[in-house]
Amino acid sequence: TPGLYLVATPIGNLGDITMRAVDILRRCDGVACEDTRVTGKLLKHLGISKPMWRYDDHSEHRDRSRLVDSMQTRAVALVSDAGTPMVSDPGYRLVNDCREQGIAVTSLPGPCAAVVGLTLSGLPNDRFLFAGFLPSKEKGRRETLEELAAIDATLVFYETAPRLLKTLATIEEVLPKREIAVARELTKLHEECRRGFASGLMAYYDANPPRGEIVLLIGPPEAVQANEADAEDMLREALMTMKPSQAAGH
Ligand code: SAM
Repeated sequence: TPGLYLVATPIGNLGDITMRAVDILRRCDGVACEDTRVTGKLLKHLGISKPMWRYDDHSEHRDRSRLVDSMQTRAVALVSDAGTPMVSDPGYRLVNDCREQGIAVTSLPGPCAAVVGLTLSGLPNDRFLFAGFLPSKEKGRRETLEELAAIDATLVFYETAPRLLKTLATIEEVLPKREIAVARELTKLHEECRRGFASGLMAYYDANPPRGEIVLLIGPPEAVQANEADAEDMLREALMTMKPSQAAGH
């Protein structure tokens, strides 16, 4: 059926492509992608050959409207280099234009580094706020962290290896005493998820310079107190279930 198909692709491990994604990539009329070389490799791996068009949200308005018009009669898949389109990746304008023009949009769920990092970290996940990449300049980074400091949720960011240490230093100043997780190279051979406080993680990554792709997570403000409260509750419960002789220390 004609329309736009948003197709999530692997973030490392090629086995993470879904059956539905393969099916749509096989049946669509063409693939709009960030980088035809990157997507070409994925299609080749899947044994699929399709026309590819480069697309990002900075593409000329004219090119975008032509692409949207073509979806009246063609099925177009949108993929990014890795993961879920539009999660810190292009596609927002395209989807908006499609909606305005009454073009059918279908979203195929699949890998997303933010979600993999969140689930792997063990940080509270009943509430989380995804904030994409922090600004690259120190001032902007600090301001963004200040703005998010009071939010009662785990904060999830995309980060680059060369900037990790600087960001940890700013976190230590702006959001002290928060539990942090650094989730690196997710779904890949050297996948790693390290938990700690900013100072400890800074010492570690100073000695072991990080490489590859990173999801950085900051636990909610009360996480520390909440854990202490949990421990107190557990202790109280344990004391209550003990026999009086045990509780008295005999
Ligand atoms: N749309 C993608 C998604 O759904 O995850 C994210 C695209 S964004 C341009 C790229 C950033 O995602 C990287 O800089 C890194 O922060 C994060 N990322 C992507 N793949 C990752 C991986 N395998 N491990 C850790 N972080 C990853």
